[in-house]
Amino acid sequence: MARKRLNIAMLSLHSCPLGELGSRDTGGMSVYIREVASEIGKRGHSVDIYTRAHDPRDKQVYYLDENVRLIHLQVGQVERMHKLILYTYLGDASCSVENFRKSLDIQYDLIHSHYWLSVWVGRRIQTWWKVPHVTMFHTLGAVKNAIGIGEEEPELRVVTENELIEDSHCIIVSTESEMRDIVSYYGASQDKIKIIPCGVNLSTFHNIDQSSARQNLGLNGNSIILFVGRIEPLKGVDRLLEAISKLDKKKIELIVIGGDTESQSELDRLHNISQELNIQDLVTFTGNLEHEELPQYYSAADICVIPSYYESFGLVALESLACGTPVVSTRVGGIEKIVQQGKTGYIVDSNSAPELAKGIAKILSNKSSGSPRANTEFIRDSISQFNWGYVAEALIEQYETMLDKG
Ligand code: UDP
Repeated sequence: MARKRLNIAMLSLHSCPLGELGSRDTGGMSVYIREVASEIGKRGHSVDIYTRAHDPRDKQVYYLDENVRLIHLQVGQVERMHKLILYTYLGDASCSVENFRKSLDIQYDLIHSHYWLSVWVGRRIQTWWKVPHVTMFHTLGAVKNAIGIGEEEPELRVVTENELIEDSHCIIVSTESEMRDIVSYYGASQDKIKIIPCGVNLSTFHNIDQSSARQNLGLNGNSIILFVGRIEPLKGVDRLLEAISKLDKKKIELIVIGGDTESQSELDRLHNISQELNIQDLVTFTGNLEHEELPQYYSAADICVIPSYYESFGLVALESLACGTPVVSTRVGGIEKIVQQGKTGYIVDSNSAPELAKGIAKILSNKSSGSPRANTEFIRDSISQFNWGYVAEALIEQYETMLDKG
């Protein structure tokens, strides 16, 4: 039987999926929403992504891809709002979603909300629309607090997440560890949690000949170590700097990609650490770059390092491997499923400087004997099963199952 064309309302209120990647609040979740919405749209379903207008020049409706629209709502002030201030506007945001829907007489089949603030709105509008509510939390306040690095997450977030998890009809997670966290920290029932791993865009992320990539970026023959990500304490960049100071400094360079003016205090802290360790000449901070610019850097690098204390999945690992570059990472998010130990990189037991330095040194010594960086095709093939098209298909299947249940 031919399936019905689904009409999906996707909510991403605090962070606009079109925001600058690598800035404080725009990272893996925005990539997820952009890629998944586009793949769902290609399969004939329609997706409206609701977000908050962040710029007075924002148009209300953008047509992003086939069957995909981005809708900007006026919620509170246009400028960046602290998440707790935004929390006080969530009732207004719910009404704005409903007003837009009513103005065009749209009937949605399902709501898919991202991050606790949007899940709050999704839960409210679900009571009006009476349709299934699929949720994704991406990160969890209680888990971040248990790790204890960076700013403490407010009690309000943890209490609210507890209620939202209880009320979600289906919670999508990308890893088994996220499922375990939701069960153990929030007492969720495992039955309503569905694991769907994330993907990578294999057209965007591809290998470029290493010497051409280096030439294009004006790099010399040193070993290049790369970090890509939002700049925040949980990412462990300080531990990576310490690891770099333990390696043979004559031959290496570190490139740190990510960060904007809102990450300035953490960037300043990292600059100071580089100076204290006397490695400031080996480290380049590029600030945030868009996806189209990253394959040059991944391809130019010998290793991409993920020194994080926590990742919900770890898209950067997939992107690096898609470009043929091995990864050294802590055991976070989906890394154990992504990196093949000793073949496409090394998973280290902690982000202590000696552990990271050991992982990096192993890959650099393999490089001098001709592998694994030489083996770019094998590295890329190793992650070919992580594909946004498959993620979209698994989501559509889940949406249909929920609608069939009624
Ligand atoms: N990213 C980017 N430019 C930057 C920094 C990061 O495009 O300057 C992207 C990166 O390529 C990846 C995402 O942001 O797609 C980060 O996702 P990840 O899952 O690694 O971390 P998260 O942001 O979810 O903590």
